[in-house]
Amino acid sequence: MKRSNRKRAELLAKAAPVLKAALAPDERVQYVAAGVVSLWWEHLMAGWASMLINRTTLVLTTQRLLLIHTNSRGRPESYVNQILLDGIRSVKRGWLGGALKLTLGRGRWTLTGLRRSDSAQLVTMLAGRPTAASGVTALCPACFEPGAGHRACARCRTSVKSPRTAAFRSLVLPGLGDFYLGHRLLASMEMVGSAVTWVFIIALMLSAFGPNSEQSAVVAAIFGGLLLLVVNGFDALLTYAQAKKGLHSLDRHLPTTPAAGHLVADRPRLGMSGVSPHRP
Ligand SMILES: [Zn+2]
Repeated sequence: MKRSNRKRAELLAKAAPVLKAALAPDERVQYVAAGVVSLWWEHLMAGWASMLINRTTLVLTTQRLLLIHTNSRGRPESYVNQILLDGIRSVKRGWLGGALKLTLGRGRWTLTGLRRSDSAQLVTMLAGRPTAASGVTALCPACFEPGAGHRACARCRTSVKSPRTAAFRSLVLPGLGDFYLGHRLLASMEMVGSAVTWVFIIALMLSAFGPNSEQSAVVAAIFGGLLLLVVNGFDALLTYAQAKKGLHSLDRHLPTTPAAGHLVADRPRLGMSGVSPHRP
């Protein structure tokens, strides 16, 4: 128990710059835990890769559950989402104890990769809330105002990474879009994977149609092109969904620097006393 407390204190210290900028003056931290927020197909397709790129620090405050995306060492990176407490209809633990299944006023949400003690604690703390018709909301990575969308933030004019750009890059070459989103290891592996796919498709086309006539070369090129379009198109769709998970800061930093001339100083800053964890 002592060790897990120290781990949570470390997580909280790493998340402090985000919390200082994001929390309202009367908002207090009640619990912090490490987890993973991934899309169901990411889990199916590449469980471990999904753990790698979807690490999330869960911060329960007096008003909401903040989902702060982090790197593999728990440092905040790229994007933050929130779930308002009055938008949580019910909470259940998953079948292995390390998952939390939230039914929201709008939609469902699954958090995985939690320590069993953390998920047990959070189930108790999140239970019995009134319900509003709200779901998961993405926050601006600079001023942490909700509902900014993927256009420039209405409050601080900060721009974020575009899901369309991510998808287009993956359509050109699988992995390029992931590189844009900052998933470098995954991106490199996908690029190797798509190079292998290229070789495989070319070899397949050559063996199917034979290299001996001009006509069969054209047919092979068309079929190969279509196959690549399917493969690349599939990766573009996956990359698009990954980009839509949150408002990704352009430099991956959290908080990121707001657009020039738009300081976000009007939110009162909290001292560290405001973000100390306490056990109920
Ligand atoms: Zn903003």
